Amino acid sequence: MGTQTSQRLFDRARTVIPGGVNSPVRAFDSVGGVPRFIAAGEGAELVDADGNRYLDLVNSWGPLLFGHVRDEVRRAAVDAIGRGSSFGAPTEGEVALAEAIVDAVPSVEKVRLVNSGTEAGMSAIRLARGATGRSKLLKFVGHYHGHSDALLVAAGSGVATLGIPGSPGVTDGAAADTVLVPWNDREAVAAAVAAHGDDLAAILCEPVPANMNLVPPAEGFLAFLREQADASGAVLVFDEVISGFRVARGGAQELHGVTPDITVLGKVVGGGFPLAAFGGRADVMDHLAPAGPVYQAGTLSGNPVAVAAGLAQLRLLDDAVYARLDEVTTRLVDGLRKAFAEAGVGAQVTRHATLAGVLFADTSPTRYEDVAAADHARYARFFHGMLDRGIYLAPSGYEVLFTSTALTDADVDRAVAAAAEVAAAL
Ligand SMILES: *Cc1c(COP(=O)(O)O)cnc(C)c1O
Repeated sequence: MGTQTSQRLFDRARTVIPGGVNSPVRAFDSVGGVPRFIAAGEGAELVDADGNRYLDLVNSWGPLLFGHVRDEVRRAAVDAIGRGSSFGAPTEGEVALAEAIVDAVPSVEKVRLVNSGTEAGMSAIRLARGATGRSKLLKFVGHYHGHSDALLVAAGSGVATLGIPGSPGVTDGAAADTVLVPWNDREAVAAAVAAHGDDLAAILCEPVPANMNLVPPAEGFLAFLREQADASGAVLVFDEVISGFRVARGGAQELHGVTPDITVLGKVVGGGFPLAAFGGRADVMDHLAPAGPVYQAGTLSGNPVAVAAGLAQLRLLDDAVYARLDEVTTRLVDGLRKAFAEAGVGAQVTRHATLAGVLFADTSPTRYEDVAAADHARYARFFHGMLDRGIYLAPSGYEVLFTSTALTDADVDRAVAAAAEVAAAL
């Protein structure tokens, strides 16, 4: 397979863009090799600048539940842009999207639209602090909530891939109010809540952590966090940027029956456009300006094209979609497990609802350290073996597999057959 065009573009990119990319993981640093520059997406496939085709198991890191260029989403975006790209004034589409989110996500009574998951997470913690008058945040090691200062502490995939603990440029002050706790560790949560309870503004988590590979919540752990938040008066924030509309239409909170106070949404909600949201209980959300004093704003927030695309995608979400995603995930996970077992390769194919992760480790991960200790060099070899066979996986062992309904059974079987070949040579 030729990669000359991607190589040439990457060389050009590196002279004008730091590291040649606009988001670090795209540079293939942890797996090596030439990042593929993408020319187009077609259904379940990506086409790179050299004309190579790949079955896409990243789907833009989650947004594309239906794969690329789903017709309803494309038409909604094209129609919207014909009426104008941005107004900086309210539109009916924003109301319809807010209504669709409130309808789908159990805990959300009111919601505000923003442009990225980072912005949504950052705004959610400001709201939690403003609403409680408290300052500290309890955050889990390895959970990612975007790259804002207070949340970029032990933040999983992106920073872990680069081997840096947080980031230069984040002051001690900005990180000082973030209390770190290991995931799935009740004693540690209880101890942190006991130590900081009176000043704890929020308990924040990815309810289905998917930025440190996939490390599902232990039985009852989310309900335990709800209890701890209630006992301390902290706001419970679920970052459902990945899990929202993916593990179920109503996200992890629907799947697990645990209701947070604030929910952070991104990825799927924007249908592949820059759109994210945070929402929750009306009395909490009404602390936001102009209803209340907590300031938050955005020139392009609720952008009409992004809103139209996001709404079009949300309107397609019915039981049949999740049944199909579940089937695809089952077929892929079962196939991969069999492929690794037959090759005698020690691998964990972790699965939670419609999310899955491949980790080269001997035991199933329960916290960040388990993922960090896995064989990431082996993942890099697996990644390249798959890429050579036309299967596009996330270029880091800290990430997960994102399926779409565009994948046919034959597509999944092709991915599994490739994995069996690659596993035999690992
Ligand atoms: C992707 C992600 C974010 C950040 O969203 P961006 O749109 O990349 O800023 C936040 N939280 C989680 C759980 C994510 O996976």
